Amino acid sequence: MIYDFRKGHSAQYFSKLLTINYDFDVEEITLSREQLQQDEIGYFKRTKNNGMVRLGAFLPQYKDITYASTPALHIYQCETTEEKGFKMQIANSSRNNYWSRDRSKHVQAELQICKVCAKHLRNHYKISMGTNTFNNFILALEESSRTKQTLVDSSGYIINWRQVSHCFRDLKRFTCEKCGYKANNEQHYKYLHTHHISGVKTDNQRSNLQCLCVKCHSEVDDHHQKKFALEGLSQLLEFEQIRANIN
Ligand SMILES: [Zn+2]
Ligand SMILES: [Zn+2]
Ligand SMILES: [Zn+2]
Repeated sequence: MIYDFRKGHSAQYFSKLLTINYDFDVEEITLSREQLQQDEIGYFKRTKNNGMVRLGAFLPQYKDITYASTPALHIYQCETTEEKGFKMQIANSSRNNYWSRDRSKHVQAELQICKVCAKHLRNHYKISMGTNTFNNFILALEESSRTKQTLVDSSGYIINWRQVSHCFRDLKRFTCEKCGYKANNEQHYKYLHTHHISGVKTDNQRSNLQCLCVKCHSEVDDHHQKKFALEGLSQLLEFEQIRANIN
C-alpha cells in the first residue's frame, strides 16, 4: 500500500499511530525536526510503556527522477543537513518512500546513512556499521558497550527491543535460518522471531541472535517447548495453517 504524504492528514494519522500504538508495519511518519528528541547518539522517540525507537531523518522529495542516487538518511544532526527549512521525513526502519521533485513519482528504497553521520559514529564511539544501512546502524549500537541499551522492561527485554528485533529480522530478509521459510508479506512478519542463542535477553549482538520461524523457535529446547505450549500455541497453529495452504 502506498500512502500519500502530500496531504497533512495521513502524516498526522501516522504520527498518532506511532505514539499510541506503535507498530513496525508503519514505516514512516512526518514530523518536523523540532519534534524529534535527540541524545548523544542520534534522534529517537519514546513510545508507550517507556519504549524507545531510534529514528533517521531524510528529505522525502528528491530532485533526481532517475533515482541515480537516493536521499541520504541522517541519524544525527550533522553539518550536511542543510534542509533545515524543509520538513524532513522521519524513518524508523530501513526501507523508505520518497518523491520526485514535482511529486509525480514515488519510489521505495533502502536509504544509505549519510557519510558524515556515519563518520560521527565511527569517531565518537568506534562503531563501524559495515554497509551504512539503518538496520546495521541499529544493530551495531548493541555491539558496543558504550552505546548498547541497558534499560530493560518488566519482561527483561531492552526498551528498544522491538526495533532491534525488527532490524535483525529485516537484515535476514524475514527468512528462517533453520528451515528456510520466508515471510512474503508484512502480515506474516510476526511468524518470524528473534531468538537469543545464549538465552541472555540483554545480549543483542548479532552473533547471539537468530531469525527463526515460530515452529523452529518452539523446538529449540525443552524450555522453549514448554513456553510455546503455554503461550504460543495459537500462533503456532496459525502458522502451520498458513504453511499448509502454501504447499
Ligand atoms: Zn548526516
Ligand atoms: Zn523454521
Ligand atoms: Zn528463543
